[in-house]
Amino acid sequence: MSDHAEVLVFNTPEPKQVGVEVLSRLVADGIVQSTVTDCTVDGPGYLKGPSAEKATRYVNQARSLSIRYHEGGALYSSPEGGGWLTCPSCHQRLEDERVSDVPNPLKCHRCLGEWLLGEWTLHGCAFGTVAFFFWDWVLRDGFIDQVHAWANAPLVRIHYHL
Ligand SMILES: [Zn+2]
Repeated sequence: MSDHAEVLVFNTPEPKQVGVEVLSRLVADGIVQSTVTDCTVDGPGYLKGPSAEKATRYVNQARSLSIRYHEGGALYSSPEGGGWLTCPSCHQRLEDERVSDVPNPLKCHRCLGEWLLGEWTLHGCAFGTVAFFFWDWVLRDGFIDQVHAWANAPLVRIHYHL
């Protein structure tokens, strides 16, 4: 089985509040189970619930949900690569290998301007304070709209491959 996730990244000043709100809705809707288990791809998380088909196109493949918090914000990109950043001022593209571990704020090596990561233009990656990793789920568009409404915070969806 491949280790693939659809990741919903929220950039909010209140990550715990948003995380708890979205998780409680997912549990109430039967999309994930309420108890934390170690049986997930990347540590503690939640197994799919009895109504997971509300969220994913392929219920049999869907596994678990894990949630990561990062108070100061983090850049989420696929370890396989594919994400990049461009400078908000001169549009210089940063090299791929720098995406996984960049400082915040980040200085452009071309125009020497310095901006917070959330201000750079992101491609195939996302900056946020809380991220929901849906392992082997193929999320429905309508479900993502619903989660966006529950969270009431900026949301970016990225694809993640280990
Ligand atoms: Zn620049």
